[in-house]
Amino acid sequence: MIELRGISKAYETGAGPVHALNSVGLKIESGEFLSIMGQSGSGKSTLMNIMGCLDRSTEGQYLLEDLDVANLSDKSRSALRGRWFGFIFQNYNLLPRLSALEQVELPLLYNRIPDRRRRAAEALEQLGLSDRIYHRPSQLSGGQQQRVAIARSLVANPQVVLADEPTGALDTDTGNEIMGILSDLVKERQITLVVVTHELHIANWSNRSILMRDGLIIEDSIIAR
Ligand code: ADP
Ligand code: MG
Repeated sequence: MIELRGISKAYETGAGPVHALNSVGLKIESGEFLSIMGQSGSGKSTLMNIMGCLDRSTEGQYLLEDLDVANLSDKSRSALRGRWFGFIFQNYNLLPRLSALEQVELPLLYNRIPDRRRRAAEALEQLGLSDRIYHRPSQLSGGQQQRVAIARSLVANPQVVLADEPTGALDTDTGNEIMGILSDLVKERQITLVVVTHELHIANWSNRSILMRDGLIIEDSIIAR
């Protein structure tokens, strides 16, 4: 479903280019639960941002099904992003002044999907947040905020969910609870899930783990159960 071929990314900075990815090749099948591990600065977020069409590579080919994403215009890429991907971030990325319900309605608004209120309420209910739909982020715990963000990532029915250190701001128990929710989702909805983490016990929830170092994938292994 996702295929990266020779993907490189150089960031231009005042001090010259920073090579964040150095010819990465990666194939992800539909329904896979992949974790991306590696030290800080190894290129995990860069890779994830390119996969999610949030950023573009400086070299290489990105095939999403049959579509050559690397050559699309910014406008087509952002339409593709809305239709294909849901995102979850370490710091939840919720808007401080919106209620949980309004946060989850946003992807529906962007994708012009009707019946927003009902769909958003349903998504929150599935995350066990029925009694929190009018709460703002500051009135929710970290775990609850991340569950709102998960509901938001799923409400428009994406095929792929990309999570960049989704448990990074949570304690171990809450982190495991979030990973349990994500792992059930893969099974129930046949979503493709990619989770960036630097913690082994988080990666162990996945079915396949790649390890990055200096902008390269240096290991790619199936996780035995
Ligand atoms: P990770 O997520 O594994 O910590 P990143 O993908 O964020 O790694 O970063 C990879 C490399 O690219 C690092 O050296 C980082 O400093 C650099 N980098 C990331 N984003 C930018 C940017 N916007 N401008 C310049 N350099 C960047
Ligand atoms: Mg990162």
